[in-house]
Amino acid sequence: MSRAYRVSYIEGDGIGPEIFASARAVLDVLSDSFKISFEFVATPAGDKALKDFGAALPKQSYAAIRESDLCLKAPVGETAKETILFLRQELDLYANIRPAKNYPYIESKFSDVDLVIVRENTEDLYVGREFEEMNGKKAIALKVVTEAASKRIARTAFEIALSRHETRSSSGSQSEPSVVCVQKSNVLPMTDGLFLRSCDSVSKSFPSVKYSSMYVDTAAMNLVRSPEAFDVIVTSNMYGDILSDEASQVVGGLGVASSANYGDDFAVFEPVHGCAPDIAGKGIANPLSMLFTTKMMLEWLGAKRQDPSCLAASKSLESAISAVTRSGMKTPDIGGNSSTEIVTRAICAEIRRQTGRALDDGRFEIMKEDVLLKW
Ligand code: ATP
Repeated sequence: MSRAYRVSYIEGDGIGPEIFASARAVLDVLSDSFKISFEFVATPAGDKALKDFGAALPKQSYAAIRESDLCLKAPVGETAKETILFLRQELDLYANIRPAKNYPYIESKFSDVDLVIVRENTEDLYVGREFEEMNGKKAIALKVVTEAASKRIARTAFEIALSRHETRSSSGSQSEPSVVCVQKSNVLPMTDGLFLRSCDSVSKSFPSVKYSSMYVDTAAMNLVRSPEAFDVIVTSNMYGDILSDEASQVVGGLGVASSANYGDDFAVFEPVHGCAPDIAGKGIANPLSMLFTTKMMLEWLGAKRQDPSCLAASKSLESAISAVTRSGMKTPDIGGNSSTEIVTRAICAEIRRQTGRALDDGRFEIMKEDVLLKW
């Protein structure tokens, strides 16, 4: 067995703990089946942490996250700004990767969507610089764009387009890699103009990738009209946030939408959605958003640490999800009537079946041997 990967985790709020338990159960089975060793470190953060420890991201949690190989995060409630926005800024997690892909057994108006949104994660209106004037009757927000950050995210987008192309070609697909830069440079010639010029300039280093640009309103329209036409979309923070929620709807909704925040050497993996308080505690949250997020985590580990076991585990997880959804076992948000726990147990059993491990009932709880921080 390779050295243990230290995974810090945030269980989050609302449905967070329910869907995190699903990821945790699946990772136990994958760890056993593919001989991957994980050390899990509980790092409380979010609304509950604020209540329990007086900080949405307590110092101990932040320190433990920094010492880990990666962080697997379930959604938090009202404290997103103090948790994930803080982590993105502090750890320079500059690339937010949000795939949207059709799976045959997850209902959608489309059948052939396979796109990824590469969103700049550190700048734009998200720098949090707002001002009030005229006694609050006028409000101003700063939109910050730099050439360095724009070129960095553009390079990430082109590299992703090439690597997706390689994977697709190996399974016989003829499709061409492409990157579309989404912005509104006609209205914002300085900020969005700089973003566009930076992407244009980086595109010259990737001649084998088809490159174009599109205004954000046109992109929003095309995403619901012909989402199959997109491969990689590179865009700034706010547009990326909005377009990725839209993209999730064309492949089955937020319940299946995963994402990752990449820096150069660290990453935080989290579902796209919020903590869904309306369904918390009902046992019907779709665990697939968290499981597709876990799949991204395994792919990242496989590529970063050159670990074929992680890549094999990610493929096994994807194939188990397909098999289980094909059998009709799905949560209500995607047209089924199964609970979070039933779907999770079925996916665990399917991984065991596919990898020839003995079937068991599967565990569905946070493991006793997880590292718990001292407070
Ligand atoms: P935020 O502003 O923090 O992103 P939000 O309040 O806009 O959160 P979400 O919490 O993302 O919204 O939920 C939006 C809708 O999607 C809700 O009706 C919620 O129940 C549903 N939803 C989100 N995630 C899931 C999931 N994993 N399974 C089933 N339904 C979900």
